[in-house]
Amino acid sequence: MPQSPRTTLFAALIVLVSLWTTDPALAAESPADLVRKARENIRFDPEASRRNAEAALSALKAQPNADLEASAHLVLCDYQAERDTRAAQAHIDAAAALLPRAQRKGLAASLVICEGQLLEFAGKTRAAMAKYDQAVIFAEGARDGELLGDALYERGYMRALLGEYAEGLIDQRRALALYQKLALNSRARTALNGIAISYNRMGDYAQARHYYEQSLKGHIAEGARREQAVTLYNLGRAHENLAQWDEARKAYENALTLHKELGYARGMAYAYRGLAGVCNAAADIRCAIENLLLAESAAAALPDARLKAQIKLQRGITLRLQKRFAESIAALQDAIAAFNDASSMSELRDAYQAIAAAYAEAGDWKQAYELTAAFKATSDALLHRQLDQRFATLKVEFDSAAKDQENALLLREKNVAERALDQERIVGRLQAAVIALACTLALLLGSLALRHQRASKRMEALAHTDELTGLPNRRDILARLATALSDAGGAPIAIMIADLDHFKPINDQYGHLVGDEILRAIAHVLTDTMRAPACVGRIGGEEFLILLPDSSLTDALAAAERLRTTIAAIDASRWFADRSITASFGLTTAVPGDNVSSLLRRADEALYDAKANGRNRVDARCA
Ligand code: GH3
Ligand code: MG
Ligand code: MG
Repeated sequence: MPQSPRTTLFAALIVLVSLWTTDPALAAESPADLVRKARENIRFDPEASRRNAEAALSALKAQPNADLEASAHLVLCDYQAERDTRAAQAHIDAAAALLPRAQRKGLAASLVICEGQLLEFAGKTRAAMAKYDQAVIFAEGARDGELLGDALYERGYMRALLGEYAEGLIDQRRALALYQKLALNSRARTALNGIAISYNRMGDYAQARHYYEQSLKGHIAEGARREQAVTLYNLGRAHENLAQWDEARKAYENALTLHKELGYARGMAYAYRGLAGVCNAAADIRCAIENLLLAESAAAALPDARLKAQIKLQRGITLRLQKRFAESIAALQDAIAAFNDASSMSELRDAYQAIAAAYAEAGDWKQAYELTAAFKATSDALLHRQLDQRFATLKVEFDSAAKDQENALLLREKNVAERALDQERIVGRLQAAVIALACTLALLLGSLALRHQRASKRMEALAHTDELTGLPNRRDILARLATALSDAGGAPIAIMIADLDHFKPINDQYGHLVGDEILRAIAHVLTDTMRAPACVGRIGGEEFLILLPDSSLTDALAAAERLRTTIAAIDASRWFADRSITASFGLTTAVPGDNVSSLLRRADEALYDAKANGRNRVDARCA
């Protein structure tokens, strides 16, 4: 039957409409697809992820679906958690209202994960940990492998931060296995990164670097630019820990370029912090300040307490390099408080080390000594924990090797002899590898412990030594005097204080550097002229204490006179032509009942006499 023109027109219209509605570009934008893309893009491009989730939510207004809406809110919560706490909380509330109607019960795990992230960024590490524990329980209960992987990843990361490295590794490995089983390759690589972070925190930087480099290749191949940038930053951190500054700088710069392209402020702040650390290591103050300003402004609006504390730590170090000690100490105290709150031991250790150095340079030896002790205690505790945990990790490796062997035996029982043999060979190799690893690790740990012990000894020596002259410092020489007094048992003891004459005008006229050189020259003369058991220390700016055990007043007067003439004979022409260098001496001997302060007071009075009587002379006071 021939068709009428009207029917033909109608048919053509139907074809057009059906073509229109099946346009592949439009079909790809269904809410379910948008939510899937939003989840994927978290790792690739956070801004795209946010756009996808927002588009999904507006499409879902017309066709409500509790699962998809809750998922979209949770993606947005993930996005906002590190940017805007209030916005993130609003998405949590929206998702919580939808969950009772959702089919996928495991979404409750995603919700508490986001709550945990908010706590984590606020520096409340322990509370965050409790949330991640809860997330694991929810995901396990719902038998949701993907979300269980997410929950294990977060918990493992947090455990490593809190120093529970072996437990953290077990979580990360479970996450990795789950993602691999579900063929979620991109997330599997993120879990691999998590494993590397644990190794880094455990102090096994070379191993961490190896994993980062591996997963970086995968991220690049896949085009996961955010992951690539984050991994580059982490790689920089491992290089930083290995004191490989050039490599660290390169990694941070590359991370920065990517974060800028992605418009990812938090990543930029981290990268600038890294670069500031590299500049500080090179004592390049200008470069450090530049990067710190950029880091501070990028981090200003972010709710990330640990990031801010890390920036404060670098700021404190830079201020110390600038010799602005009071401000340096204040910044470092802030950082210490934040790291304490977050129970982050390795960062706490670095901050203690920095503040002890600041106090030492500021000349506050008492605080320097106390904070050096705090640094040593944290460092020791961390090292012990790292040792314990590394052996626990090895045990995890042994246990899994043993489990493999059991499986192999079962298989053999089932007459799969060929495969069982293969398995056994693998297990054998694995065990050999694990044993080799254990030996290498034991060696490595031994050398680490040795190095640490040496460093501690060096620190201890530094706490007793005056930095400028290398002489025993005030605390040290006074302690020696106290010991000499209590050990004397009736033997005579003399002390003298030497004070340079008119030293301030020398400093004012020729500068502090010349002043410093003269102080070193004097220290040299004093130690060269005096023989053991006599000993010399620096007790103040241009004041020295000479302790003479077993010396009578006559011996001590002769020794002081010898010192006075040797100092006056120093050839000062290398510094100035118009004056010579002289010192005045105040001398006294101990009588029964004397203590450190009574003895020092008499020597000081004698010194006052020497100054009043015209300087460049020796005066004595007897009890
Ligand atoms: P007097 O003969 O009365 O002792 O006069 P003086 O100028 O030596 O004494 P005063 O106590 O007025 O000045 C001591 C100076 O020592 C002040 C300070 O500039 C200088 N000084 C203190 N510590 C250091 C230091 O570590 N390096 C240098 N270069 N100078 C120092
Ligand atoms: Mg003086
Ligand atoms: Mg003086």
